[in-house]
Amino acid sequence: METQVCIIGAGPAGLTAAIFAAQAGARAVLIERGSAAGRKLLKTGRGRCNLTHTGTIEEFVRIYGECGHFLKPALYAFSPEAVREFFRTRQLAAKEEKDGCVFPITDRASDVCRILVDTAHRLKTEFVYGRRVQAIEKEADGFQIQTDKQTLRAASVIIATGGASWPFTGSTGDGWRLAKEFGHTITPPRAALCPLVTEQTWPGRLQGVGMADVVLQAAWDKKSIRLRGPLMCTADGIGGPVVFDLSRHLTEALAEPASAVQITADFLPSMDRPRAEAWLIAECAAQPRKEMAGVLSTRLPRQFCLLLEEFVSPGRPVTAAHLTKEQRNRMLEYIKAMPLTVIKTAPLEQATVTRGGVSRQEIDSKTMQSRNCPGLFFAGEVIDADGPCGGYNLQIAWSTGALAGASAARFARGE
Ligand SMILES: Cc1cc2nc3c(=O)[nH]c(=O)nc-3n(C[C@H](O)[C@H](O)[C@H](O)COP(=O)(O)OP(=O)(O)OC[C@H]3O[C@@H](n4cnc5c(N)ncnc54)[C@H](O)[C@@H]3O)c2cc1C
Repeated sequence: METQVCIIGAGPAGLTAAIFAAQAGARAVLIERGSAAGRKLLKTGRGRCNLTHTGTIEEFVRIYGECGHFLKPALYAFSPEAVREFFRTRQLAAKEEKDGCVFPITDRASDVCRILVDTAHRLKTEFVYGRRVQAIEKEADGFQIQTDKQTLRAASVIIATGGASWPFTGSTGDGWRLAKEFGHTITPPRAALCPLVTEQTWPGRLQGVGMADVVLQAAWDKKSIRLRGPLMCTADGIGGPVVFDLSRHLTEALAEPASAVQITADFLPSMDRPRAEAWLIAECAAQPRKEMAGVLSTRLPRQFCLLLEEFVSPGRPVTAAHLTKEQRNRMLEYIKAMPLTVIKTAPLEQATVTRGGVSRQEIDSKTMQSRNCPGLFFAGEVIDADGPCGGYNLQIAWSTGALAGASAARFARGE
């Protein structure tokens, strides 16, 4: 089989790459090891698919942090606004939620996936399912792509095989092995956007209890960060959106065995410490016979309040009238700056995204072409680029996929 552009992996990055390569006039073949496209895409946003986020390209660049500069040309090639327009013109409008997250109006990831596959089909992309690419060899005038069952020749190749999280969806890190054959450096893959394991065991007793508004602060290796959002207690630590975002920043610091990062959690961020104290004093005065857990539970989950009561008065519930000043101060300390020692992230397989991957230094950000091998391109999570929760990771897949697809088509035509 011969083609101009061969794309490996039919996730959001590979599908977008195929569409842009075909739109740029190239014959494209998409090889997918699974029996269908977009298996991880179908799981996104709990099946609703958080497509992208609101904001300008410059805001996206800032939010991506250290990989923002690298992603800039790709974001201009296929911007968040253009992504919405792409789906809108195919009868799938998008809606913005209060937090800026953008979802398809139908709340169905399957609609997003179907549109991508249909569009690629209409543009005459050839889909080859059930073939796992084993090796890519450079030849004088192109590449030979070997799958477990056949060999294909192509003028240019796009590796869009994803990272290594949720491996049962097909992404098991194959792209890094293929990239290494071309001398690429792989930044060690680590779990990101995942729960964190804490030394403290109390979150386990509150497993499943969520808090809508929590501020987490962490300081490590001369870095510090403050993040705000919902938190959820898990069997062995903490999870939820604010924790997921924090996990991205702590992956390197937690990489070594026996490493730990100290964080604090503010469970009442809408009030500063003096206001929180004034509120607690007023509540205690208003209902002196009430147990402290009941007093606190107007603002915090009841199970958490019971835990706070136990912390300051172990084994003996305490009423508002009997709460000493010292106990009140300790309670406020736990509410406003609960210390937690994070000892590790959840395993990579359970993470939402992989941090790390093909080194950005070895990819030309204006084309997504390998600096080591002309004609070889990368798109999506296989690259060492990731973003926070909120649609930022799919935007990386859309943007790098579009740029890689268009660039690979130009390369294949000898431009
Ligand atoms: C549960 C969950 C929810 C998420 N929700 C969101 C969300 O709402 N918003 C958001 O922005 N991000 C979300 N993400 C992250 C997002 O899904 C990924 O960043 C995105 O799917 C990456 O796209 P990709 O195309 O690079 O890789 P993938 O989606 O992983 O696709 C790679 C494809 O390559 C194929 N493949 C791999 N190796 C080979 C090979 N050797 N030969 C042939 N084919 C191969 C795989 O089978 C797979 O189909 C979520 C992730 C998870 C796990």
